[in-house]
Amino acid sequence: MKNISILGATGSVGTQALNVIEANPELYRVLALTGHANANLLIEQALKFKPLMVVITDESKYQTVKAALSGTNIKVLAGEAALCEAAALDGVDLVLTAIVGSVGLSPTIAAIKAGKDIALANKETLVVAGDLITTLAREHNVNIIPVDSEHSAIFQCLVGESTAAIEKIYLTASGGPFRGKDRSFLENVTKAQALKHPNWVMGAKITIDSASLMNKGLEVIEAKWLFNLEVDQIDVIVHPQSIVHSLVQFNDGSMKAQMGLPDMNLPIHYALAYPDRISSDFKRFNFMDYPELNFYQADQETFRNLDLAYTALRKGGNMPCIINAANEVVVEAFLQDRIGFLQMSDVIASCMDGMEFIEKPSLNNYLETDMHTRIFAGQLVTN
Ligand code: NDP
Ligand code: MG
Repeated sequence: MKNISILGATGSVGTQALNVIEANPELYRVLALTGHANANLLIEQALKFKPLMVVITDESKYQTVKAALSGTNIKVLAGEAALCEAAALDGVDLVLTAIVGSVGLSPTIAAIKAGKDIALANKETLVVAGDLITTLAREHNVNIIPVDSEHSAIFQCLVGESTAAIEKIYLTASGGPFRGKDRSFLENVTKAQALKHPNWVMGAKITIDSASLMNKGLEVIEAKWLFNLEVDQIDVIVHPQSIVHSLVQFNDGSMKAQMGLPDMNLPIHYALAYPDRISSDFKRFNFMDYPELNFYQADQETFRNLDLAYTALRKGGNMPCIINAANEVVVEAFLQDRIGFLQMSDVIASCMDGMEFIEKPSLNNYLETDMHTRIFAGQLVTN
């Protein structure tokens, strides 16, 4: 029996993870659940899975959750700081970090310090502070098991392999809803168009990131830290069908790919079960549905974000933290119709130029960079 805490249980990854858990009650028990604004869903989940603790980070919803769970033994906490309690709760073996954004950083650190293994969906945490997180995980002997489908693919390809034998990896990208479009088209796209991902149903922020290719940029940075690679060992290849989830090329020229239907249940199921593989009834791949698999070069001139992410990773220090914070601000602004699609990259680039560069940041430096960049980016959006 694996005891699990889910940070961000009410989101796209969180709800799919609960479906996997519900289908395997003899394997998993939920000890803590957190949600932010969706109090009703959190209450429903709590009544069904009976965890020891729930956290509602939006404090204005505390009374609603507390009242609804008053007849139970479930401890109800509110606020961002309580995420760390859900992450470090006694008896928890594995923490699924399915929160969106850099708010995941502190609870992930709390979980690692408490010796909990991490099933990591919250890529922003590794983008912001990958060196710090991976060093801490090594010190505390904690596994970080990727949930992101590309990284799960690489992770699965590396089972039984030495990481020293990796020549390079290819992260596949669907290209999103605007693949093949030029800048004059992108100038006027709406959030409704950007939210229509061709292959995956996901939360709003990552869906916009997929349309702008920032998601792939963040994933390049995520891969660097998860697999301890140099920047030049990480390549991106556009693959519209999202069947090949990513590939590893070894030093003898051989390549391994992990494949399957584009369904987040697969990597979530693998991360929860790791190191085992557990049978599932998920839909199986049929070759006749996909007679062709295509691969293209990513268009980094039209989709500047991928290029900005590579630049940030090469620069190192707090630069990835800067692009992440700026990106969180511009995506929110785009979702509120406050800036255009192409302006998002302009603001991110201005933040990279305008923010103070710190070569070897401490945790405090990261938290301050995150906060200051949000203020700076916010001003650029309103001007
Ligand atoms: P969603 O937007 O669907 O869910 C986000 C979760 O985080 C919700 O539970 C939400 O609570 C909670 N949350 C939002 N804001 C805060 C906050 N300020 N403090 C605490 N909790 C908060 O996102 P996804 O599930 O799509 O993505 C989650 C993470 O997983 C992201 O980092 C994403 O990049 C990554 N990921 C997602 C994939 C997917 O298929 N969805 C694939 C690969 C990676 P509430 O809803 O109650 O407000
Ligand atoms: Mg991904």
